[in-house]
Amino acid sequence: MRHVSGRRKEAERLNRDFPFAGSSIESVLLSHAHIDHSGRLPLLYKQGFRGPIYTTPASIDLCGAMLRDTAHILEGDAEFVNRKHPNDPPVEPLFTLDEAANAVELFRPVGYRTPTNVGVNLVMESYDAGHILGSSSIVLTDGKVRLAFSGDVGRPGLPIIRDPEPLPPCDYLIMESTYGGRKHPPTGDAIDTLEEVVTRTIARGGRLIVPAFAVGRTQQLVLLLHQLMNQNRLPAVPIFVDSPLAVDVTGVFRAHPECFDDRVNQYLHDGEDPFGFNRLTYIRDVNESKKLNDRKGPFIVISASGMCEAGRILHHLRNNIGDSRNTVLLTGYQAENTLGRKLRDGWKSVRIFGIPGQVEAEVASLDELSAHADSEELLDWMKPIAPRLKKVFLVHGEPAQSAALADAIRSRYSLEAIPAAPGMSFELSL
Ligand SMILES: [Zn+2]
Repeated sequence: MRHVSGRRKEAERLNRDFPFAGSSIESVLLSHAHIDHSGRLPLLYKQGFRGPIYTTPASIDLCGAMLRDTAHILEGDAEFVNRKHPNDPPVEPLFTLDEAANAVELFRPVGYRTPTNVGVNLVMESYDAGHILGSSSIVLTDGKVRLAFSGDVGRPGLPIIRDPEPLPPCDYLIMESTYGGRKHPPTGDAIDTLEEVVTRTIARGGRLIVPAFAVGRTQQLVLLLHQLMNQNRLPAVPIFVDSPLAVDVTGVFRAHPECFDDRVNQYLHDGEDPFGFNRLTYIRDVNESKKLNDRKGPFIVISASGMCEAGRILHHLRNNIGDSRNTVLLTGYQAENTLGRKLRDGWKSVRIFGIPGQVEAEVASLDELSAHADSEELLDWMKPIAPRLKKVFLVHGEPAQSAALADAIRSRYSLEAIPAAPGMSFELSL
């Protein structure tokens, strides 16, 4: 326990402190809305930053919904701790709803492939990274050196969004390495896996409980279920998306058709709603959510959070995990020490809201929808720019993944590849 709390303290410190003054930063370029990229922007505001934040229009709208949601959770957590420990000095949330709203005011929209001045002699241009709605890779130049930042790179064939775009020639590349040493199953198999899991669960008379990230994964699952329904490949069961954030985010998706791939555009062209069909119900109201517990017969519920750490999914798990007819379908990355990881690792008993319970339900995984390129896909993505590159810096990966990708880049492209660490600095020249 001491180890966990030590690590939590360290994470807390890293979260609160920037290695620079907020007011010393002129502008921010944001690759995409995921909270591990955008989540500290309100804190940067709080610490004096007032410059522009450049990103795509879809990312701005997603950040609006996500940063508000995060602030709400942080404020609630702080309030809970302060109520539990009235004699300790009060804890402050990392940032408040107001600070989140102030940070969102600083956003400036920049479309894909639109060269934009972001400083003296500094021009940025962004390209679709195919990772989530509005995600981008960014090329920055001072007129001489061209520096590319991959952001998070997606995968060919992911539902809804377009495939990652190749970048123009660049001299240096900062690249993500989340799955730098792994291989994913193909994206095209996701629909078959989903069909199999739903079919066998319904045949048992069970419920399908799907923890899913509210941004991206939920909308992809809805689209795949829609396709399966259209092709008469699913039994006629009701489907619920039970997450206020997912409802908000689905609204953002609808507002950004400029980010869609051909399949979703075809739905729109045919006058169909890709994110709605007659068996699907979106739930915002908490009482409607609670009513699902008493519902008779099989159904599917998609709820957040994706790693089963918070949110309404915990109630659905507590109510359904003890019944062997049911299935829990994990649909994304499950970080260490999360409830999702324990379920994935086959734990037979888990604690939910502090109360231990037996895991009798089937636990299945849908790994085909990973939003991150795997090792081969990263190497393919950088192939067009590899000949001119002088160096590659690897970020956003656990050490083993970055090291594996660095090895692969050296041997495939004979390039210098450096796993980056905090405090490193480099001079970039031609
Ligand atoms: Zn991401």
